[in-house]
Amino acid sequence: MVHNRGFLFVSFFTFFTLLFPFRTACPAEAPMTYVTFWFDTEDYILPQADDAAKRIAEIFTARNIHATFKIVGEKARVLEERGRDDVIQALSRHDIGYHTTYHSIHPTPSEYSRDLSWHEGVQEFLRREGIGLEMVESVFQRKNSCYGQPGGSWTPQSYAILREWDIPLYLDATPHVNLNNRPFYYGGILNVLELGDCLLNTSGWDENAVRKFCDQFDQAHRQLAKEGGGLISVYYHPCEFVHQQFWDGVNFAKGANPPRSEWKLPPMKSEKEQEQAFGVLEKILDHILKQPNIRFVTASDIPALYPDDTYSQPLNHKELIAIAEAMQKKISFVDLRTRFLSPAEALFAMAALLAESDENLIADEITVVFTYGPASRTEEYIKDGSFTWEEIVSASIDFLDAIFQTEQMPSVVWIGGKPVRPQDFAATLATVVTKFLRKQIPTEPISLVKGTMEAEQYVANDSDPGLWGWVIFPEGFHAPKLMEMAKLQAWTIKPAKLQK
Ligand SMILES: [Zn+2]
Repeated sequence: MVHNRGFLFVSFFTFFTLLFPFRTACPAEAPMTYVTFWFDTEDYILPQADDAAKRIAEIFTARNIHATFKIVGEKARVLEERGRDDVIQALSRHDIGYHTTYHSIHPTPSEYSRDLSWHEGVQEFLRREGIGLEMVESVFQRKNSCYGQPGGSWTPQSYAILREWDIPLYLDATPHVNLNNRPFYYGGILNVLELGDCLLNTSGWDENAVRKFCDQFDQAHRQLAKEGGGLISVYYHPCEFVHQQFWDGVNFAKGANPPRSEWKLPPMKSEKEQEQAFGVLEKILDHILKQPNIRFVTASDIPALYPDDTYSQPLNHKELIAIAEAMQKKISFVDLRTRFLSPAEALFAMAALLAESDENLIADEITVVFTYGPASRTEEYIKDGSFTWEEIVSASIDFLDAIFQTEQMPSVVWIGGKPVRPQDFAATLATVVTKFLRKQIPTEPISLVKGTMEAEQYVANDSDPGLWGWVIFPEGFHAPKLMEMAKLQAWTIKPAKLQK
């Protein structure tokens, strides 16, 4: 009898659990706000900046949380030269990212890439910045987890080398590329850049600044809860806790390039002002640590929060139809609900379907590979015309062959011997893919459809106010060719989806 009663009780409980599953939901299911603090550790002139970096590392270590220090190659070298093993040890307890070889000595990355082609810019970034990466990795004895450019000195070609270096994250604060103020993929790399309300920094060092930061943090935290979770990015420079003026502003502003013998030390904060600055950091950390559903993450943790399974999960027919329908409306990234595809991936998928099928056997699924956007923009292309089905299929095979051989979309797609822009090729394929999947060969002639690369809107224009406002650039600096290269890489852009 007793046994039976127990059984009844268990069944009753199970029944209620099934009926009201949310009653048993555990707190871990609440949306999580991930918080990342990164410090651009770059001042190799003022020795006291070494101590500032060490103290910041210790502030985090004392709270059992981790920060990311993005380190300049020359900074790593001088830490070793000055015998600062204590600083190297303190920073080594945290995450180590990369921040170029010399940071502000001219030419900086946007300056030396300004007039280069895609391929020249890729090689020049490798040649100039590979040295610093080796310095940081040899001093800190580990692989770097992320990269960020000096000031506003951004280049699209850097992405190709980051991929070569197996650095999966671009972590910075820059408006050159921005997708709705949230993390995104571009150039085959996860980007955490201009996050709008989720990119924070105290713009002062007093109680007011602390209050303002905490309010902004709480607001961003509430907003991310509504969005189902997300990432708040907070940045500083260790040197700004001890100086009054940036080390590079004092020496390299407006294109100045004095020899090492003439480098000046930046003016310092008083002892009291320095204590106040470190106090501000401690106060904001303690505020954040008191909030619910918060997790501190470093650059090494972030890629796993925003995984990209585009290449490991093939696309089925339903998804291919969704891609074709989306590309008929606009040439941009495609939302498949479970994941996003970049415009390049969407075009690749449509071309691969035609290349890998025939009228009798349609490919069951399509596996996508990564491809860069074109290296240049063609001026010579047809504005209207029509093609046979065979010409469209041959062009798709040729398009895929170019990608497999170069890992880059061609600047021109040749259909029946006529030059076609990639966006027009995408718009044209979008009109035939759905029919083809329904086993209907599209009626000939197949007309060329004009496509507009709408995804280019996420890349800034060279003329945007403030884009080149970094004080280190020569006065009046502009880089229209570089931003044109950046727009061509808009083929690779798509939102990054937070893993739930
Ligand atoms: Zn910097």
